[in-house]
This record gives sequence, structure tokens and C-alpha cells, in this order.
Amino acid sequence: MARNTMRAVALLFFHLFTLAWMKQNPMPSIIPQFVPPSSGEISEPMSYPYDHKIFVAGERELTMNCLPVSPSQLSSFEIQSMKDNLFHVLRKFREQNGFGRAIAAPQLGYPFRLIALHYNGTDTALYNPVIINHSLETFTMWDDCLSFPDKMCCIRRYKSISVQFVNEKNQLVIWNDCSQDLSELLQHEIDHLNGVLAIDKAEKPFKKARSLEEITDSVEEKERKQLERSDEEVPAAIVSRKDWLERPEYYNRFVDFHY
Ligand SMILES: [Zn+2]
Repeated sequence: MARNTMRAVALLFFHLFTLAWMKQNPMPSIIPQFVPPSSGEISEPMSYPYDHKIFVAGERELTMNCLPVSPSQLSSFEIQSMKDNLFHVLRKFREQNGFGRAIAAPQLGYPFRLIALHYNGTDTALYNPVIINHSLETFTMWDDCLSFPDKMCCIRRYKSISVQFVNEKNQLVIWNDCSQDLSELLQHEIDHLNGVLAIDKAEKPFKKARSLEEITDSVEEKERKQLERSDEEVPAAIVSRKDWLERPEYYNRFVDFHY
């Protein structure tokens, strides 16, 4: 009995010592292995409005130079799940926010070269997209992103690009001389696959010389007076989306293209 008591006391002291030691010497944090979420097992469904986390600016997942998807991987369960999840999140985001035409795999944490595109009412999966040609002409615009939803940034893009990619049937597809809106969208998404965000390339808008006649009637008198000032302040390269939405005409005056 006494021996059992001594053993219990010794065990208690051992546990207390272990707890005290662990408090002083915490375990090193373990970098989680990449596990692609599958459509069947949604992680933390209550945490994210789109069923999955969308990684945001500043997180490591958005700085990755993504891996190409090989022909043998294309039909695998993991790659198919990744594609399904990208389109699922894109659709949900669009339903809830009214915008969102494309999403790149790293925005959901997948280190692969895949873009889910919803353009002109059609869903297209672009595997391993590459810009094979571009116009000499560039233009500026205000850009946004699912990964920095509270900001707008001024960015310069090629006016037109030609792009090649592999489709879901493992066929090589070439889109030549894409329209301006599709070109800027694809440049944004392909940058994601190289670990580059639009805010990384943002530039201060170049002040455009436009006459007051070009300003629409929707511009209010207050803003019109502001525009007449010769010392009008040029916006910063990155601005808050809230401020931008309060006076889009003002901001759009400083760029070449807007929707
Ligand atoms: Zn983006």
C-alpha cells in the first residue's frame, strides 16, 4: 500500500515536472503539410463564407511559384478536387459579392498552375497557362482581388495578350489576341501562379489630362469643383476599396481603362 502511494506520488511529481518543463520549452511549431481539401471533406465549414479559406495578401501561400500540372496528374482525384473547389469558391464568392471572374489555385492554398475562369457565362479551367505574346501597348486600371478584398490598386497591364494552356481534356489551347478585359484578367491570374499580387506591382496613377466635358453628368457638383482645381491630388497606388467606391469617377479619371 505504502509502495503504491509512493509510486502515485512519484508519478504525480513526474507529471507536474513534465508540465512545468513543457511550459518552459514549448514544442516547435510544425509547418503543416500541404493537404488538398477535397470536395467531400470541407475543413472548418463554419469559418469561411465560401466553405474554404481564401488566402490573403501577406500569407506565404500567395508567394509560391506554383508547379505545373502534368498530363498524368490531370485526371487524378486530387487535381479534379482542386478544380472543383476553385469553381465552387468562385461561384459562391460571386453570389455573395457580385464580382469575381477568376480565381487561381494558390488563393486556396494549392501550389499548382491552374486558373478557374468564369468569363462570358462560361467556366474554363486553364492548366499551365503561359503568355506567348503581348501587345506593345499598355494601359492603367484600378484592380481588385479576392485576396485583398478591402483594397484597390492602380496597375499597368498589356492591352492584349495571347495565351496558351492545357484544357481539362489535356488538349493544348491557344487564345490569340485576347480582348482588353480578358487580357488584364489573365495577366492578374497568371501573376498569382508566379507568387505575385497586383499590389506588389501597383504604381501611382499617372495624371490624365481630360477635359471637364468628358466627365459624365453623374459627377456631383462638389466633385466637379474639385476637378477644376489645378492642384488636384493624384491618388496613391493602393487605396481602400471603401474610399474608392465612394467616388469611382474621381479615381477612374487617373487611369486609362475601367469597367
Ligand atoms: Zn487575385
